[in-house]
Amino acid sequence: MTLHRQPVSTDIRGQMILLGTGTSVGVPAIGCGCDVCRSTNVRNQRTRCSAVLGLPAGNLLVDTSPDLRQQLLREQIGIIHAVLYTHEHADHVFGLDDLRLMQFYLGGPVPLFCEDRVEQRIRKSYDYAFRTGQDLHKGAVPQLVFRRIATEPFEVLGAKVTPVRMRHGKQFDVLGFRFGNVAYCTDVNTIPPESMTQLSGLDVLVLDALRPRGHATHFSLDEAIDVARQLAPKQTYFTHMSHELEHEATNAALPDGMDLAYDGLRIALT
Ligand SMILES: [Zn+2]
Ligand SMILES: [Zn+2]
Ligand SMILES: [Zn+2]
Repeated sequence: MTLHRQPVSTDIRGQMILLGTGTSVGVPAIGCGCDVCRSTNVRNQRTRCSAVLGLPAGNLLVDTSPDLRQQLLREQIGIIHAVLYTHEHADHVFGLDDLRLMQFYLGGPVPLFCEDRVEQRIRKSYDYAFRTGQDLHKGAVPQLVFRRIATEPFEVLGAKVTPVRMRHGKQFDVLGFRFGNVAYCTDVNTIPPESMTQLSGLDVLVLDALRPRGHATHFSLDEAIDVARQLAPKQTYFTHMSHELEHEATNAALPDGMDLAYDGLRIALT
């Protein structure tokens, strides 16, 4: 048996933690002087969208945001056993290099569960991680291995994951995920009828709600509220929010059973 370095890590089994709840540029946005971007309320400070789940056999990360290092340090999560991708946009991928240390803790590559398009984007953007015959010290590049997924349910780290097809703009498909009675659906502006069926009977739904005004590739807050009403989970949390949504004022006006998410929010897996 190989002995691996032991990481220091909090036990998060049975929970999903929202690591980041901000839109692609984050909140505060660079150079913005609006009230939300200048707010000292930590709930108005949103890193890029990501979540981590404490599953029976390890920690599953959903997307590798550009704020990944900061997010894992903040939540004192020292090890990631596998990654699941919603889609390949920059705000969901470009923290991937921060997983370099995992090869020491796992004793091998990090499995990346994703669709073909995501794999192609990662192979292109992180070409240095897949080059053979390089004279590199161990740990210089992330060690990664791809696991192809589609819309069929699959097992990872002792749990069942059901991918749910969603649209992120007219011509762009992404995946939402259902884990038991909790679903994570970011970067979406249309949920096809068959996917709506897959999202019935939820305890908790995490759903994209960018801002009050409409948008070509994300649900507006009103659209997201409408979807939450149709799906009727016990609780809905909105994520991928821009600086146009002030946490306290917006939250106070939401219907019962709906709240704005915030970085660090913990949700029980049921
Ligand atoms: Zn995004
Ligand atoms: Zn702003
Ligand atoms: Zn996106």
